[in-house]
Amino acid sequence: MSENLSETRPNTPSLDAFWMPFTANRQFKASPRMLVSAEGMHYTADDGRRILDGTAGLWCVNAGHGRRGIAEAVAHQLERLDFAPTFQMGHPIAFDFAERLAAIAPGGPEAGLDRVFLTNSGSESVDTALKIALAYQRAIGQGTRTRLIGRERGYHGVGFGGISVGGIVTNRRAFPQLPGADHLRHTHDPARNAFAKGQPEHGADLADDLERLVQLHGAETIAACIVEPVAGSTGVLIPPRGYLERLREICTRHGILLIFDEVITGFGRLGTPFATDFFGVVPDLVTTAKGITNGTVPMGAVFARRAVHDALMQGPDGIELFHGYTYSGHPVACAAGIATLDIYAREGLLTRAAELAGDWASAMHDLRARAHVSDIRTIGLVAGIELTPRPDAPGKRAYEVFTDCFRRGLLIRVTGDIIALSPPLIVERDEIREMAEIVGAAIDRVA
Ligand code: PLP
Repeated sequence: MSENLSETRPNTPSLDAFWMPFTANRQFKASPRMLVSAEGMHYTADDGRRILDGTAGLWCVNAGHGRRGIAEAVAHQLERLDFAPTFQMGHPIAFDFAERLAAIAPGGPEAGLDRVFLTNSGSESVDTALKIALAYQRAIGQGTRTRLIGRERGYHGVGFGGISVGGIVTNRRAFPQLPGADHLRHTHDPARNAFAKGQPEHGADLADDLERLVQLHGAETIAACIVEPVAGSTGVLIPPRGYLERLREICTRHGILLIFDEVITGFGRLGTPFATDFFGVVPDLVTTAKGITNGTVPMGAVFARRAVHDALMQGPDGIELFHGYTYSGHPVACAAGIATLDIYAREGLLTRAAELAGDWASAMHDLRARAHVSDIRTIGLVAGIELTPRPDAPGKRAYEVFTDCFRRGLLIRVTGDIIALSPPLIVERDEIREMAEIVGAAIDRVA
């Protein structure tokens, strides 16, 4: 780092140039919250305070911060091979990393999800999976299948494919969508399922909405259906018992590919390597990112069933899929990814959430008597705490809880009036209690 650069404050007197993503820019710049370093379960803020990380960054730092093994692997790779193309060229570490991913692929060896397309983010993984689905249907003589089905309240990143199948109205309102996308009803049903630990009891029948869309559009027009097995960004929505199974059945019956978006559930969040393993329901494509490199270097991956991959490896010699990114299989990201998988394996992190899930659920559900808490839902190391919105100002109550927690040393995430917690998978039980205490006190204070 050059000597005159501060490590704790921007050197610029103005924060104007950085147009911040998914941020209330004017509000933030009037009262910034800066994180300047991180180690283990904690960030350090620019005023020197330690901030407990209740969100694993943005659902991505599963092994905790400042992992030396990853830093060393990245430094070594930068010196050895900083960049090389993967278009009609190869470099060893991309193949090694894909093999390592295939070895832990969602659903285990029987599921056959062991062909891996590398991307740089969750949004790219989603658009890649949707395009693979369309190309697959065409390759097997089903070219009329161009429709993509998502779900209300789904979040699949911000590419045009992702927002078209996504179902968060604020993310869609200003932008045109892909033609032909349609949406299942969402599964949030607090009237019947409030305060569920794990999968809620009611609502498997909501999967029949896919049958309705088949009747409406014709199966021969539908290429794929994409859902998050557990929806995170929309405020932690956990699938009712039997729901994913029924979606799988309907997709199979009608030749529709099922895509699980595991960008947040991948890499141990639920206590199994993937949600596919947790629920025992095997889709045809799985999108991942975030925890794949412990959040250190941008990277994503799409796992494809071998049959899907192989259908595209037919015909005359030549490029089989006209899709890919300059940085697909970037050597530095692959090095970070391999070092990350090493840590996950060595420390048992892909299953650790299962050991903590009981304590996690109790600590979070203990908050149910606090004022304005209308629902709490937990699964693995994820919690959603829903607050009743203020009639005149939806979202304000949870935002104030967020700023209060930050002042008191805890990073949480809020969406609307829902608080989402998803700590690094290295979290200890006393830190779980600390998180619940800080959140509870903040809810009391904000009232
Ligand atoms: N899909 C899901 C389920 C996500 O939660 C996210 C991000 O939170 C994305 C896709 C988009 O990932 P990215 O922000 O890396 O593009």
